[in-house]
Amino acid sequence: MFDEKSLRELAAFEAKGPILSLYLNVDPTQHSADEYRLELREMLKQAEGLVDEADINAVKRYVDLEYNWSGRGLVIFSRQAEQFWRALSLAVPVRNGLTVAGKPYISPLVELDGFYGRYAVALVDRQGGRFFLFQMGELVTQEGTVGEDVRRVRKGRGSSVVGMRGGSQASGRKEAAVVQRNLRDIAAALVAFCQQHQPRHLLLAGADPTVAQLREFLPVKLQEIVVGTFNADMLSGEAQIRDEAFAMLKALEEKRHRELVDAVVTAAAKGLNGVVGLDETLSATHEGRTQVLVIEQGYHAPGYRCQSCGYLTTQKLERCVFCQGRVVEIADAAEAVIGQVIEKGGTVEVVENGMLNAHIGALLRY
Ligand SMILES: [Zn+2]
Repeated sequence: MFDEKSLRELAAFEAKGPILSLYLNVDPTQHSADEYRLELREMLKQAEGLVDEADINAVKRYVDLEYNWSGRGLVIFSRQAEQFWRALSLAVPVRNGLTVAGKPYISPLVELDGFYGRYAVALVDRQGGRFFLFQMGELVTQEGTVGEDVRRVRKGRGSSVVGMRGGSQASGRKEAAVVQRNLRDIAAALVAFCQQHQPRHLLLAGADPTVAQLREFLPVKLQEIVVGTFNADMLSGEAQIRDEAFAMLKALEEKRHRELVDAVVTAAAKGLNGVVGLDETLSATHEGRTQVLVIEQGYHAPGYRCQSCGYLTTQKLERCVFCQGRVVEIADAAEAVIGQVIEKGGTVEVVENGMLNAHIGALLRY
C-alpha cells in the first residue's frame, strides 16, 4: 500500500540514468481496460529514445501480464538498469502523464497524498460508532464501539405503573440521557482512534441530528479537521462508506480549486499578489515569488530555458538576459516551471479548468 514512507523513498532515489515515471488514469467508470491499454501505448511512444528500451518493455509486460486493473490510478517508476521498479495501484484517479528524468517524478503523488493521503470516517448512530481509516482511498483499518441499547430504554415505556403520561416523559428523559452518554463515549473512542492514527481530515456520517450532537462532544482540535458530513445508515457496507467519503472529498477539492482560481484571477486583475499567463508566471517563479502555482490539467507549452541559471521564458533568445548563459528550446515550459516551484518550496495545484484562457497562473509571496 502507498504511504508517506514510500513517498519519501521515491523522493530520495537518485538514478545514474533516466527514470521512466508514468501516471495512467484507469478509472473503470470512464473507459475500458482496452482503451487505457491503447492510451498507454501512445504514451510510451513519447518515451522512445529517452529511456532504455528495457523500461518501456517492463511497463508493457507488467500491464499485459501482472496488473489486475483493480484501482483508479496506476503509477509506475522504472529504471531497470539499476533494478529500480515501483508499480503503485491507487484507489484514487491520477492524471495521465509520462516523465523522463534523473529522479522519479513524484509531484502528482505529493498532491494526491496531501488530499487523499490519510482521512477518517466516523459513522455514528445513537448507540455506537464505526470508525474507518483510509489511505489514498483504501481502507486501512476500522474499529467499532457500542454503548447502551437505546431501544431497550424506550421499551420500558407504557409498563410504568405511574401512568402513561408521566411514564412516557420519564422514559423520554431517560432515553435522551442514554443517548447523551453514548455519544460522549463515542466521542471519546473517536478521539482515541484519531490520536492513534492521525488522520488529516475527518468526515462524520449518520443521521443529521446525531452527527450534530456528536460534533459538540468533540474537542476543538478534532472539530477543526472535520471537512464534511453525510447521511449514512449504521449498517452501510465498507465499500459504500469508502465511495461516499471519496466523492465528498473530491467535491471539496474541486470547490477549493475553484476558490483558488478565483483568488488568482482576482489578485491578478487588481494588480495584487497574483499573475496569470505563462510569461508572467515564468518570470515570477524565476524571481522566487511563486507561492502557489495553479495550472490547468493537461496544459503544456513549448518554451526556452537557460542552461546555466534555469531561467524559463516563452521568448526565443540567444543568450539569457540574467546570466548570458545559452538558451535552449524545451518541449514543455509548463512542466519545467512545476519543478522549479517545488524546488523553491512552493506548492502546485492542478485544476480541472476555469483559468479562463490563461491556463496557468500563480499566487505570489509578495
Ligand atoms: Zn541564465
